[in-house]
Amino acid sequence: MVQRARRISAIPPYLFAEIDKLKAEARARGVDVIDLGIGDPDMPTPQHVVEALAEAARNPATHRYPPYEGLPELKQAVARWYRERYGVELDPETEVLVLIGSKEGIAHVFWAFVDPGDITLVPDPAYPVYRTGTLLAGGTPYTLPLTPERGYLPDLGAVDPEVADKAKLLFLNYPNNPTAAVAPPEFFAEVVEFARRHDIIVCHDFAYCETTFDGYRAPSFLATPGAKEVGIEFNSLSKPYNMTGWRVAFAVGNREVLAALSVIKTNIDSGVFNAVQLAACAALNGPQDVIERMNKIYAGRRDVIIQGLNSLGWNLKPTKGTFYVWAPVPEGYTSKSFAALLLEQAGVNVAPGNGYGEHGEGYFRIALTVDEDRLAEAVERMRKAGITFTGKR
Ligand SMILES: *Cc1c(COP(=O)(O)O)cnc(C)c1O
Repeated sequence: MVQRARRISAIPPYLFAEIDKLKAEARARGVDVIDLGIGDPDMPTPQHVVEALAEAARNPATHRYPPYEGLPELKQAVARWYRERYGVELDPETEVLVLIGSKEGIAHVFWAFVDPGDITLVPDPAYPVYRTGTLLAGGTPYTLPLTPERGYLPDLGAVDPEVADKAKLLFLNYPNNPTAAVAPPEFFAEVVEFARRHDIIVCHDFAYCETTFDGYRAPSFLATPGAKEVGIEFNSLSKPYNMTGWRVAFAVGNREVLAALSVIKTNIDSGVFNAVQLAACAALNGPQDVIERMNKIYAGRRDVIIQGLNSLGWNLKPTKGTFYVWAPVPEGYTSKSFAALLLEQAGVNVAPGNGYGEHGEGYFRIALTVDEDRLAEAVERMRKAGITFTGKR
């Protein structure tokens, strides 16, 4: 028999598997499923970035192994972008590390700092990799519940000081997937203070750095005084430039943390295709109007969904960032049973909140990655099926 390693057995079953199966069954029955489950931008990468890739790929110099820590051109572009957008100074040589998508770096950072039995502080609900990354490295995730009462910011004061002293890493993510919450600068100041007191490495996942609305600008964690002494930030071209398929991202901040992550990476991967890195330079250095354009589109979609759901009895406030809407399920439902109801009776697929952790139970997540007409149709189908926040029929 095939005997799997214990570290794989520790990984919980994929929570979206059941919903994915229902979705496939509905499609097989001929249902025109409106899929609001997947957080993947629906619009193409800007043309000048695609052209830059094509041109770079024609140059045989790009065909060889890339430098381990990333092309100097890209690291310089990242440093300039960080200075201009967030007012953060970075040494391109030592404070920027190119990644094969930020998921790669997030998964590997645990291998650099977590030994079997070590504790990490992980928010819940959250992007699942923080938890599974900890488990794969043999660590124990300690849950920081995110609740609407606290604006989905963890209560660091509630962490048992003994646990905090033992913890190696703290993961955070604002603007937040899946809750769409944003963090005020005072919160990041509290994080730096907490990390210093307990000697914890902070990893801030800034995947939605540029996906913000109505004039709100999300702060980089590294803009917080003292942040660079305690942590790093993961950032990615995926969401701001519609480049999820390209697999190019970077980590920035504390040089010792990045050097340790680099030890893992040099032993596992050999970097990002040079031509993709040059295309990433074109994205960071080129016209930035794509970001503004995308954000207008997402804000319009957000309004359609929030006004639509509120007309069905929900009471949702406009979000400031990310392309998600996080909403409670009506009374009498679980995340899973409500997602199944939406799929069965309205042909609408959403992500059940418990897929992001036990504190996501009782919620569902809508991704604003389909156009306004489809979103409006999703709401209309719910109305016709009698699905409202106050209950079914
Ligand atoms: C999309 C996403 C990522 C992964 O981005 P890649 O750079 O494409 O790997 C990381 N964190 C969060 C919270 C995300 O939503």
